[in-house]
Amino acid sequence: MRRIAVLNQKGGVGKTTTTVNLAAALAARGRSCLVMDLDPQAHATLHLGLTPGRSGPTMYDILTQNTPITQVQREVAPNLWMCGGHIDLAAAEVELIGSVGREVILHDAIAAEAEALARHDYLLIDCPPSLGVLSLNALCAVREVLIPLQAHFLALHGLSKLLETVGLVRKRVNKELTILGVVLCMYESGTRLSSEVIDDLETFFQAKRQPNSAWADAKLFQTRIRRNIRLAESPSFGQSIFQYAANSRGAEDYASLASELETGQPDDLWRGSNDLAQPVIDAG
Ligand code: ADP
Ligand code: MG
Repeated sequence: MRRIAVLNQKGGVGKTTTTVNLAAALAARGRSCLVMDLDPQAHATLHLGLTPGRSGPTMYDILTQNTPITQVQREVAPNLWMCGGHIDLAAAEVELIGSVGREVILHDAIAAEAEALARHDYLLIDCPPSLGVLSLNALCAVREVLIPLQAHFLALHGLSKLLETVGLVRKRVNKELTILGVVLCMYESGTRLSSEVIDDLETFFQAKRQPNSAWADAKLFQTRIRRNIRLAESPSFGQSIFQYAANSRGAEDYASLASELETGQPDDLWRGSNDLAQPVIDAG
């Protein structure tokens, strides 16, 4: 099972949208995907059509009650499984403060059921917008970190802190942890700002990329997730973009991201730089 945390301590950058729709795209490619919603806001849970707390036990029970993951996961669509989030996760952050090894609870829960969970090809974890104990649990439980970033002028702000946290977890707890890469979300092609952010990001990558660091093989995904109104609409219908608007640009982009994740190559649309061919904002 390939384990990936979708993390950026900033809110509103596209973590949940990416977790849900990348998982749905991978499921459409025939891969079994388990999504874990570690955000107390439980947006990923709603996005996939579950009502937080009304669909049985949640991530809160895994972290605080030792409930096995296999008793929490629900199949929400073909090949797509979910361990839901719950507002109580906000309390878990505090409840766990006194307990020893609190960062590795999720890691241990996965290890305890490794055999049963091996039916899945992917685990994708949607993290809350903070670097607290919930995100640390994700970082200790996965092997890879995917960072969604919005190409605006403060995009890189906070990235150093994120890298530092990932580096510390790698050094102290999870030696396998690496940063898979950055995916640009809500991308508006053709704007000067976007190309400036990409330049900055590449410079930043170069400066940080030391051998044997978590960042050594990080890449900037060629697939960029364009701003697309359908992506913003689909959560309120409890549907992934592939259920809600299979022919939208949002669906195209997440299908391409899944392709790039698995094969190293984006879909044809995204091969090479087609920046100029894309409208700045699109509604379709
Ligand atoms: P995060 O989980 O990082 O807080 P979200 O994925 O919830 O971010 O995205 C923040 C908001 O932006 C949500 O309302 C979401 O529907 C919207 N959104 C995300 N990606 C796009 C996109 N590519 N185009 C348009 N709206 C988007
Ligand atoms: Mg979110």
